[in-house]
Amino acid sequence: MKASIAVNGYGTIGKRVADAVSAQDDMKIIGVSKTKPDYEAKMAVHKGYDLYIAIPEREKLFDEAGIEIAGTTDDMIEKSDLVVDCTPGNVGPENLEKYKANGVKATYQGGEKHDLTGLSFNSIANYSDSVGMEYTRVVSCNTTGMARSLTPISKNWGIKKVRAVMVRRGGDPYQVNKGPINGIVPNPPKVPSHHGPDLETVLRGVDITTLALLVPTTLMHQHNLMVELENDAKIDDVIDVWEKRSRVLLLKAEDGLTSTAGFMEYAKELGRNRNDLYEIPIWRESVNVVDGELFYMQAVHQESDVVPENVDAIRALLELETDGEKSIAKTNKAMGIL
Ligand code: NAD
Repeated sequence: MKASIAVNGYGTIGKRVADAVSAQDDMKIIGVSKTKPDYEAKMAVHKGYDLYIAIPEREKLFDEAGIEIAGTTDDMIEKSDLVVDCTPGNVGPENLEKYKANGVKATYQGGEKHDLTGLSFNSIANYSDSVGMEYTRVVSCNTTGMARSLTPISKNWGIKKVRAVMVRRGGDPYQVNKGPINGIVPNPPKVPSHHGPDLETVLRGVDITTLALLVPTTLMHQHNLMVELENDAKIDDVIDVWEKRSRVLLLKAEDGLTSTAGFMEYAKELGRNRNDLYEIPIWRESVNVVDGELFYMQAVHQESDVVPENVDAIRALLELETDGEKSIAKTNKAMGIL
């Protein structure tokens, strides 16, 4: 029997998680929830998802908009084995009380603090930590991106120290209220940014310091990493390890993929749902080892890289699969991930 999964918060991440769960053969979506009767709510119903409302007093608004609802979020939680909480950051603590009251497991997103669950998740870095647990938190898009490329480096050569400069997108493509529109904003204008400590919640013991900037783009984040290795590595061996690792792609500027815009075009050519690029692309030419220090540049499609990790996190919590690599392979196959 398929596990019954609910998505609380059908926005940028939630709608993608709903489709990704629907593509698996061991889990199904029993409902998604919304606060507003907007186009996403209409689209959820159009796609065949049962729609539940987070604010019961708004039932009339959904009715007036002609959107059929199946009940309230509380009804949805009761029917589920696990809730994927995709509400905006900091809504999580209130919801956790509801999940606890119903004895329902839950996965959270990177907008929530690690302390909410005391456990964070990345498929490649620490799948086994979440097996059979009640609650976990899939780390943010940026942290997922770093965990994907750094975990195999740590396993093969050992990491003394990481320094990373994160160039972050100002907002998601639909967010016309975000910025900057013009200018480069140190964000925060101090060192370190929160990204390093967040990585340590899944890649424990790693010594990392991060700096972050916001720039006027919506397509992707971009990372520049400098990694002091425990053991000297050859460039070709590093490339080889990443090429064998799924969810990481070595792509070449020489092939015309000279920017994040190129990567997004590449995802379109792959024919992906919503043009998503679930994998972390690394510029092949940027990979270099100088005096025992590895350098590379990568990008992160912030709207989608955490989506396969959410599917794996569900499998870990519900013990549908105890072996992380088997779950990764299963999710990849169902979603066409390279
Ligand atoms: P979003 O604003 O696109 O979607 C959130 C959805 O939740 C909206 O549909 C909103 O109507 C709904 N909502 C708000 N309050 C709710 C409530 N109380 N109950 C139920 N639904 C409610 O946000 P998002 O970008 O999908 O972010 C969700 C989480 O994922 C955050 O923790 C965020 O930090 C994290 N995240 C976002 C990105 C990204 O780039 N967008 C990437 C990785 C992780």
